[in-house]
Amino acid sequence: MILITGGAGYIGSHCAIEFLNNGYELVIFDNLENGHIETVRTLEKIGKVHFIQGDLKNIDEIDNVFKNFNIDSVIHFAGFIQVEESVENPSKYYRNNIIGSLNLFDSMVKHNVKNIIFSSTCAIYGEPKYMPLDEKHPKNPINAYGRTKLVIEEILEDYDKAYALKSIKLRYFNVAGADSQSRIGEWHEPETHLIPNILKSVFDKDKTFKIYGNDYDTFDGTCIRDYVNVEDMARAHKLAYLYLKENNKSDEFNIGTQQGSSVAEVFQTAKKVTQKEISVLIEPRRAGDAAILFADASKAKKILNWESQKTLEDSIRTAYLWEKTRH
Ligand code: UDP
Repeated sequence: MILITGGAGYIGSHCAIEFLNNGYELVIFDNLENGHIETVRTLEKIGKVHFIQGDLKNIDEIDNVFKNFNIDSVIHFAGFIQVEESVENPSKYYRNNIIGSLNLFDSMVKHNVKNIIFSSTCAIYGEPKYMPLDEKHPKNPINAYGRTKLVIEEILEDYDKAYALKSIKLRYFNVAGADSQSRIGEWHEPETHLIPNILKSVFDKDKTFKIYGNDYDTFDGTCIRDYVNVEDMARAHKLAYLYLKENNKSDEFNIGTQQGSSVAEVFQTAKKVTQKEISVLIEPRRAGDAAILFADASKAKKILNWESQKTLEDSIRTAYLWEKTRH
């Protein structure tokens, strides 16, 4: 059985579908602070899911999961993810992300569960020194969110040496899109991400979409990011899981498309996909945004045989279809 922490959240739930489609039985552990019970109910209809509402900050709650279920591996998504909030309230991020992860890892060691896939982020690299970003790029996160993820990666390295806890860290670029059958999708409150915010302006005429900065040193002045489809991302987790089971070796991989799209390009693509006029305003830059970020994901291709398959248009289309189900 596989334990998915944060399985009621955005990427965790898409990953759960990937594993359920492949016949795995899952335990989903989520405190529902940001995850949704509706998402869990949807997953329960797709395959064998045991849902435990619990908080990683309480070690007994996670320890009981290992006592009560025969867990063989863990996929660890649970954590706070908002960069801006992490700068304003680092205590919340360090307490939740780091203490929660430590409790999880200690329970794993105690119950002799030795495989984990960890959701990391390209935010651990910080201000880019070169592009595309490969796994060897220096790691200097510029916000508390990125720092929590880097610290957790480092804890995992120490736990490997000391306790033979084997981990694959997947460093996500910008994850986008929704389930291709529109059963689940991106659902954050508040929403800060680009594509859902553009789509919100399609449905809510009072919500003008804001581009944060058009004076960056890029070809059109707006920021460039690497938007990787959430189902491709879910497949990366399955391949990482199989690799870890077969090789029993820790490693880390960038997961991205290796292609950059500017905010203005994403906006244009959204207009094309939705066939709607969307009102837009240019706003000042948002704090902490790098001009350009995209992945060198060749290591994932070489070792995991993972490659991005879906396009930005696919992601916007599925995100749009999902938003439609909510309106
Ligand atoms: N962005 C924007 N308007 C929005 C949300 C995001 O212009 O309503 C920009 C943001 O400044 C960044 C890019 O879109 O350059 C991607 O932002 P997002 O929050 O989706 O992901 P991040 O790169 O911060 O992880």
